[in-house]
Parts: sequence; C-alpha cells; structure tokens
Amino acid sequence: MKKTDAPKGDSTRVVTAGRRKEWTQGIVNTPVWRASTILYDSVADLREAGGRDTHHRLFYGRKGTPTQWSLADALTELEPGAEGTFLYPSGVAAIAAALLSVLSPGDELLVPDSAYDPTRAMGMGLLKRMGITTRFYDPMIGAGIADLITDATRAILLESPGSLTFEVQDIPAIVTVAKARGITTLLDNTWATPLFFPAIAHGIDLTILACTKYIVGHSDVMMGSVTAAPGHFARLRDTSFQLGQIASPDDSWLASRGLRTMAIRLKQHQASALEIAHWLDQQPEVATVLHPALPSCPGHAHFLRDFKGSSGLFSFVLNGGGEADRARLIDGLEHFGIGYSWGGFESLALPVDPQRHRSVTRRADAGPLVRLQIGLEDPADLIADLAAGLARFADQQ
Ligand SMILES: *Cc1c(COP(=O)(O)O)cnc(C)c1O
Repeated sequence: MKKTDAPKGDSTRVVTAGRRKEWTQGIVNTPVWRASTILYDSVADLREAGGRDTHHRLFYGRKGTPTQWSLADALTELEPGAEGTFLYPSGVAAIAAALLSVLSPGDELLVPDSAYDPTRAMGMGLLKRMGITTRFYDPMIGAGIADLITDATRAILLESPGSLTFEVQDIPAIVTVAKARGITTLLDNTWATPLFFPAIAHGIDLTILACTKYIVGHSDVMMGSVTAAPGHFARLRDTSFQLGQIASPDDSWLASRGLRTMAIRLKQHQASALEIAHWLDQQPEVATVLHPALPSCPGHAHFLRDFKGSSGLFSFVLNGGGEADRARLIDGLEHFGIGYSWGGFESLALPVDPQRHRSVTRRADAGPLVRLQIGLEDPADLIADLAAGLARFADQQ
C-alpha cells in the first residue's frame, strides 16, 4: 500500500492511522508485543541503547513496544498539527499526567465547574497537597476567563461539553485569552473525540481522551491518552516516564481494534442519540434535554460553530418528581443498563445529580436528571423502552 498526503475522510483515517509496516510486520491489526526485558547482543549494544533517545525503539517494557506506539501514533495522526501522544492505564491517569506535566507548587489551575467529578477531586486532593491551587469557573464564562487569571495561573482546563450537564464552552475565546497570557490549555475531549473536535487545530496545547469510552468502544478496557501540540510533548513524555505510566500491550491491541470502527460507530451513536433526544424533547414528562445539538443546551451556538458532530451521550431533566420517581423510570428499562462509563456498543441510563459536584454555579432544574448513553441498538426499541419508562415515572407521581 502506498501512502499519499491527499486529505482523507474520517473512516479512512481511523482505518489507516498508526499502521506502520515496521510495527505491524504486515499483520493488519498491530499484534501484541509483550515485553519487560529486551535482550542485547553485547555490553556495547546495551550501552548504545541506553544512551540514545529510546522513543520508538525497544529498550525496556515500561517504555512501550510497537503495540503501544502504533496506537499512540494513530491518535496523533487523528489530531492535525499534533506532535505526539502518550497512553495511560485510564482516563483519570491521563488527566493526572497532563496536569503534572504543566503544574508546579505555587501554580494555579482553572477548572470548569462542570468538570468530570474525579478531575475536581484531583484538584481538591492530590494537586492541593502538591501546593497547587485549583479554582473553579463557570463553564459559560468565555472570554471573561481573563478576569480570573492571576500571575500564578499556569493552566486552564476545559471540558466541552461538560460532564452530566453538557455546557458547550467557548473554546476559541478561552484559547485566545490563554495564548495572550502564556497559559497552557488542556481539554478533556472524550465526548467529541478528535473526529468531531480536532482540538490541537483549535489551539489547545494538551488534549485528553478517556479512550475507555469511544476509542475502545466495547466497555472492556480502561485507557487514557494525551496528545500534545508542538513544544508540549517532551515534557509530557518525561513526566509520564517518571511517573512510570504505561498502558499494557494487550489493552493497547484491543483499543487499536476498537479504533478501526470508531468513525462508523460514532455516526450511528450520533444519529440514534439525536433521534431520541428530539423525541424526548416532545414528551410532557421531560422539562429540558441537555444535548449540545439541541437549542435548549447551554452553548448550543458554540456547538454549531466549532463541532463537526455530536456523540451518543446526553442528559434530560424530568418535569418534577423525586428520587423514587426517577428510580421507577430507570429500574424498569429493558435495553438500558444501569452503570458508570459510556462509549460502548450498549445503552446505559444513569441518575445524575450535578449540583452535588459544583461550587461556583447553581442549577435550578425542574426535576431530577437522567444521563443516557445511546448504544448501537435500534433507536425504535430504545424509544419504546423510554416511553414505557416515562409512563412509569408519571404514573404514581
Ligand atoms: C470517563 C471519563 C474520564 C475518565 O476515564 P477513565 O478511563 O474512566 O478513568 C475522564 N473524562 C470524562 C469526560 C469521562 O467521561
């Protein structure tokens, strides 16, 4: 196969990315190269290996093998303009390494109030113990972020859309302010993936994925990645090596296998989730649908301006009711599992209570929230299931 520089569509890109012949040996999906020890022919050979940049050369298992390099390379290729990618054993590990590659004691970090809860916990726990201050901001702040910046502000974390409540941030406005002040921007891009939001091309310095979700796509592997803009990769890699972080070859092989179908999976997640979100929007039991592609979602205009598509995760607010009413709706669902995580082939429903995880913004929701991960089942079956659920919700209220 020849490789040309002609622009490619998303499906073509996820199929071809990272499949260098030296790593695949001609096998379609890069095989599992398991290793701790790598053997050398002589002392001279050993010394020579230790002295050179071991990136992408077999040296010791902790520095990776072609199985991990192939996946990391693929993720770099999916982010036009990126310098490199490092893999981690979970999305949270990726967030920790990215932040620690940037922050030092005395520094200040800004985090959106809608951030993934373990990210918030990291700011209040680990980072605080390291002498780093985390301040939370309204995810809809946009260029107003300039007012929160002090001489100590070193990094701004973004997560768009927000966890649980799906606020779409004004990423270009925040990036412009950050660049003018020499502040590093990090984006948790798990929801959109590089296919729907190429983060590096939008000026983000470090873009983070919980690969556990759409890259793996089958709810059977934990993994994270950070992809760096030029000038940010060396520090990320050094910090990650010093932390001893590594994703296993077996998990990387599964993640590579998942990646090859990601574009077509996302297309279906998008279509089914949109159909269901629009249907929910018409139901009297539903007060608000929080889906970035619907006008009722905060930041919908930013979504239309910046994103190339929407994925399969969104929330809706029930019209009144309490904990027991919401539980009746969820407990009786046939096609939606009750459990954490998302991005797999199967649908999930989760009760979520965003106000518990906020400190600077207040929500005034009409009722409890339900978060849905729309899987690859037939949307008609999912709608029938939800219709019965809403009837149960309304029944005894
Ligand atoms: C799940 C998730 C993570 C963490 O990923 P894990 O692999 O579960 O550690 C980070 N950010 C977002 C937005 C997530 O949904």
